[in-house]
Amino acid sequence: MSEQTTMGAAAPGSREREACERRAAGDETLTAIANDLGVSIQTIYRWTDPEYAENQRRLSREAKARRKSELAEYDREYYLSHRKKCDCGRLMARHSLVCEHCISGEKVAKREQMVALWNQGLNAPQIAERVGTTAKTVQCEIARMRREGIDVPYRRPYQRDWRCVLGETGVDR
Ligand SMILES: [Zn+2]
Repeated sequence: MSEQTTMGAAAPGSREREACERRAAGDETLTAIANDLGVSIQTIYRWTDPEYAENQRRLSREAKARRKSELAEYDREYYLSHRKKCDCGRLMARHSLVCEHCISGEKVAKREQMVALWNQGLNAPQIAERVGTTAKTVQCEIARMRREGIDVPYRRPYQRDWRCVLGETGVDR
């Protein structure tokens, strides 16, 4: 073994230069140079052959890109195979408790229930209690339905139950 190897402190740049010079001189085998500098033959190729070096960089870039898309694909498959089912049997989006279909169905059902209770003469707080929401939400939903053209009659004054309306911020009519 030569002094270079035992020293081992030579900067990579200087070993690289030395490899180039010794390879260019042409009186040693690559194996000998590699052993002498304490590196692999591939490293000697990389240091002395720009085309080889570029090819190696390209291969490594490609391998990295392949790993990345493999990981993304694995994630996707994991997500799809672990999707939870709604009570109705349909698959749900991640983190959902109900599927899209049931969300819209629930909304329609809740609206129908609200209108039915409203038509029975209940006020917003009473409806809210029945459907499990707040009076404010009921008032907003009724206003929204009216804007959307759904028939929710206005109350006549004599139908008002003032005891229930008192203290409420929204107009219950
Ligand atoms: Zn569902």
